[in-house]
Amino acid sequence: MSIKHQEYREFSNRIRSLRNRKPSACQIELTYLCPLHCRHCYAGCYNKKTSAKKQLSTEQVKEILRKCKKAGIVWLGFTGGDPLLRQDFAQIYSYALELGFITTIFSSLATLNKETLEVLKKSPPFVVETTLNAADAIKYKEVTATNLFNRHLRNIKKLIKFNIGIKVKTQITKQNIHDTGKIKELIESMGLEFRPSTLLHAQLNHNTSPCVLRVAPKDSLIIMGKHGQFSEKTNHHLEAKINIKDKINGPKDSRLFTCGAGNDSFWVDTEGKMIICGNLRTFTYDLLKRGNSVEKGFFRLSKKVHELRFKTNSKCRACYYRSNCQWCPARAYLETGSFEKPNEYFCDLAYETLKSENPHFFQRRSLI
Ligand code: SF4
Ligand code: SF4
Repeated sequence: MSIKHQEYREFSNRIRSLRNRKPSACQIELTYLCPLHCRHCYAGCYNKKTSAKKQLSTEQVKEILRKCKKAGIVWLGFTGGDPLLRQDFAQIYSYALELGFITTIFSSLATLNKETLEVLKKSPPFVVETTLNAADAIKYKEVTATNLFNRHLRNIKKLIKFNIGIKVKTQITKQNIHDTGKIKELIESMGLEFRPSTLLHAQLNHNTSPCVLRVAPKDSLIIMGKHGQFSEKTNHHLEAKINIKDKINGPKDSRLFTCGAGNDSFWVDTEGKMIICGNLRTFTYDLLKRGNSVEKGFFRLSKKVHELRFKTNSKCRACYYRSNCQWCPARAYLETGSFEKPNEYFCDLAYETLKSENPHFFQRRSLI
């Protein structure tokens, strides 16, 4: 039986409020290996055979899933790399279902095999999420350095055919920006929603090569504006927030992390370490260590993150645009090695966003 979007949202909100700051969702990285080799990928630096040696065994994954279950985790995401590359994926997935998790699978879908498809047909996950960044084989090869376009497309269609929930996202970069319309058309021709993102950040080893592929702030605004992220309603709300901040003479909040990090979800990396978000790997907690639990780890890591304060006079500290900006300490750390350093690209993007959506606000400010 399918659940309506609104009913699901109510269910999800209710569970999260009942959990009252205890985690309810976990994403587990089963491998860093991926059949695709996209230049923009933040985990691409570990997409090497040597990193596979550090992967958890089947039994270790199961142990972590049991610990998650014991801690009351409801939502479980399998991610990577591409989790479907693991020989034991079907076994791990079936075990997660036995434990009762609501599951999401993040996959390139280029390596969906018969065995996994059969398992998914029999017991579908809540959703499979994949990223399609090209509308033809030539562009696909340029973006992913592989010839897997047709296979990827076939597998998306198979999931649709077998009524397995699927979301297709698109990462827009300098490489494919001119194909945005074609990609949208292709995705919509399959009856799916076009879900672009222009957000890129440095790789997990601090390599900044993906940042070079960021599209110009004005282009990002056009793409995201057209496809819904910066809706009119949201921006009226933002303008109101900025005006209030203006009246109280600038933001006073010196907390570094003002996002949802450490509120109700966490990640587990390929070595079994709990981290609070996929981009923040400075603080870890070993979930495989005897006596360690999800509850203790989450308490420790979220406390750590919530207690962090700005120590410098970073521009971000008192920035009027912060609640509107894609800058965050974790992304800043990956890119600059500092939690506090602003990022010129994000500054430009935040400014352009607010200017385009709140022209009155900017006129008024310039008169002050
Ligand atoms: S990426 Fe940044 S904004 Fe997102 S959850 Fe992590 S710390 Fe927060
Ligand atoms: S990156 Fe720029 S716009 Fe964003 S919070 Fe920092 S100073 Fe403000």
